[in-house]
Parts: sequence; C-alpha cells; structure tokens
Amino acid sequence: MTKRAYNFNAGPAALPLDVLQQAQAEFVDYRGIGMSIMEISHRSKEYEQVNDEAQSLMKELLGVPNGYEVLFLQGGASTQFAMIPMNYLQQGQAAGYVLTGSWADKALKEAKGIGETYVAGTGEASGFRRIPAPNEIEVRPNAAYIHITSNETIAGSQYAEYPDIGSVPLIADLSSDILCRPVDVSKFDFLYAGAQKNLGPSGVTVVIAKEGMLKDSPKGLPTMLRYDTHAKSKSLYNTPPVYSVYIVSLVLKWIKGLGGLEAMERLNHDKTKLIYDAIDGSGGFFEGLVDPGSRSLMNITFALGSDELEKKFIQEAEAAGFVGLKGHRDVGHMRASTYNAVPYESCKALAEFMQEFQRRNG
Ligand SMILES: *Cc1c(COP(=O)(O)O)cnc(C)c1O
Repeated sequence: MTKRAYNFNAGPAALPLDVLQQAQAEFVDYRGIGMSIMEISHRSKEYEQVNDEAQSLMKELLGVPNGYEVLFLQGGASTQFAMIPMNYLQQGQAAGYVLTGSWADKALKEAKGIGETYVAGTGEASGFRRIPAPNEIEVRPNAAYIHITSNETIAGSQYAEYPDIGSVPLIADLSSDILCRPVDVSKFDFLYAGAQKNLGPSGVTVVIAKEGMLKDSPKGLPTMLRYDTHAKSKSLYNTPPVYSVYIVSLVLKWIKGLGGLEAMERLNHDKTKLIYDAIDGSGGFFEGLVDPGSRSLMNITFALGSDELEKKFIQEAEAAGFVGLKGHRDVGHMRASTYNAVPYESCKALAEFMQEFQRRNG
C-alpha cells in the first residue's frame, strides 16, 4: 500500500489516488502507442480524444445547457482576471465586482487597469466573514457584467446562493469550488476555474461560457487573449497543456464514477461537517473565521486563542502526518482545504486530532 499524507494543501492540492495510479500505469506507454501522451502531437487522434472527452464530461457533469462552450486555456485564473475585462468591458460601461476577499480583490485590481469598475457588493464590513446576500448586489444600468468569486480560497467563504441579476452577464470565478456541488450553469454567462484546486494539476484553466460571449472579441486584442480565437479552434489554437488536460479528463471520469456532483456534494458535506463540528463543539477553543451561512465546503478556516497555541497546533499536526494546515500568509491562523480529492478518512483523522489537541491543551 502506498503511504499517502493527510493532504490539506490549498493549491496545488490533493488528487485522487485512483487518478494518479491510472496516470502512472499509462505514463510510459499511453494505451499501447509506445509513447506517452506528452510525446505526441496535440493534433493526433489520441490527444483529440482526450480533449473531446474532457470537454464533454465537463458538460455532462455540470449539466451545461445547449448554447455553451467549454474551453481549456492557459495562464491560470489570473490571466482570466485580465482577459475578461479586455474582452467584455467597453468604453461607457462599468464592470461590477463583488468583494468577498483576496481573490475577488485581485480580479477587481486587474480590471481597474483596463476600464471603469465599481464595487457591486462587499463583505468588508464583516472582515469578509460573510458573503453579501443576493439583494445586496448593485447592478448599475451601464454594467458590462457582474463578477463574483464563488469560493474565497483564502478567507474560507462560499456563496450559498448565487445572485440573480437579470440580463446583465454574470461572470464567476469557480477556481476553488468547481464540481464540488451541482451548479445551475444557466444562471451564468461565463464561468472559469484554474485546475489546480479541484480539477487536476496546474497549467490549464477551464472556461464555460455562452457561445455569444465567445464570438467577436474586440479588434486589436492579441490573438491569444481573444476568446474567439480559442472557441473557433476547440482550444487547439496553439499547443495546449496536454498532460494537464489529460489528468483533468481522468479526474472527471473519477467524479462520474463516484456518482456525479450530487454524490460529490454529499461527500463534501459529510467531510466538512466532521471538522466544522469539531470547531462548533469546542466551546470556543477553536473559532471559525466565517459565519455559518457563508462557510465553504472547500476551505475551512479557524483560529485558536493565541499565536503560541496555533504554532503548537501546526507543529503537532505536522508531526502527526497532516500537511498544509497553516493559514494563508495574508490571514494567518489555520486552514484545512477539503477539495473533492481529499478523502473522508483524512477529514475524520483531522477532526479527531483537533479534539485530542483540545483535551491536552483546553
Ligand atoms: C487559486 C485561485 C486563483 C488563481 O489561480 P491561478 O491559476 O494561480 O492564476 C484565482 N481565484 C481563486 C478563487 C483561486 O482559488
């Protein structure tokens, strides 16, 4: 048996063991061709099959309606922060950004350099403990789009309910929670996610958008930064990140094999309940950093009474085989990332470790 760490890394993050083992088995000789998938043309029938399968499984799992396309791009979600305003923010319009934490803020900062923006809603007054409610989001008449961050990886918050904003395009960054639960894709005009949290390795970014959003990019934009370039060429305009897309295709098959997104959501709910219960049942020994209604299924943030105790917790957790529990340097404290591929057993072990730590130090 392979010894696997209790991996709570925030990103890049845990991948399913089954996927790693299948990739290992196919690494040197991909399905009998005598070469790895990395050593052949991205225009070969083998790779085209990988690309097609990843796109169609993504559509199937998310129940993507007709009239949407799935693209695989490069440059990470961070490049989308720029491409979105470059493609969709015109003179005379303003793009509305809902501020929920660090990632929303980065997306807004990037758009500010490209056109006019406004803050369409913010959780700042609560110290980002709370996601703004749908009726707290301001849609201006000249809004080019509204941008939201579905899951704030660093704060540990997630939308429980997405806003309905009428005919203005709704754009969402799902980098850290795509495929963690079913989503009504028809509410959105454009979704995107870097792969390295919940989909696979870094190197590929998924875009799911209405066909109309992927046509007629503004004149003068560089070829690689135009959505129409990638839509016209089935994401094969230039050499794609072949190995990343291949692993994503295996992860999608793994999710399908587990029963799809309803099953994934149940599992994530059961996993995170173990840890949230350890926080809530601690009588204040552990403190959750997000209000219960905005808590994330993917990143659980919590604190202890003092810096000293937190240091001790992280040291002892590391010694006990837990990886990645130190909070992001911007917020400190602790964070357990419980992405799809993190097994129930890891979460159970962490909840037990937390209770045991409290007994010894509470
Ligand atoms: C990790 C992350 C990003 C940045 O992704 P890159 O692929 O590194 O550019 C953006 N948004 C969210 C919500 C993230 O979690």
